[in-house]
Amino acid sequence: MIIYDYRCEAGHGFEAFVASASADAPACPECGAASRRRPSAVNTTGASTGPSREQLPHSWNAVGKGDRDAVRHWHNLASRREKLEERHPELAGDRRPVLAHEGIFAGRPLRAGDDIGAAVARASADRRDADQATGKQESAKKKETR
Ligand SMILES: [Zn+2]
Repeated sequence: MIIYDYRCEAGHGFEAFVASASADAPACPECGAASRRRPSAVNTTGASTGPSREQLPHSWNAVGKGDRDAVRHWHNLASRREKLEERHPELAGDRRPVLAHEGIFAGRPLRAGDDIGAAVARASADRRDADQATGKQESAKKKETR
């Protein structure tokens, strides 16, 4: 088994075990889209920062259905990443609890400590943009003229 970095059409980065260098790229564990192999990510110091919390596998399939090597690999990466985040908290990202992540907060979760008024305004604006992009403004216009 060889570990490679992949990126799917939707832009999710992930690592996967494959049998050989000529093996087909696996489907994205996040969204199921087709993926392509890419060069391993490195930071500016030349040392790999490893995967972030969000990039770690969250499913049984993503860890090779419990394959021992795969599980050990991810465990090592996660431990290394944790130590790195202790020294570089900026890598840890936003770890505040998520209060809402559905509806208007689907693309921009509401987190503990957020200014709720501002967060709702921002999320609603995002939602309007998204609706317009998908052509839902037609129905919105009808509502306005009613
Ligand atoms: Zn994806």
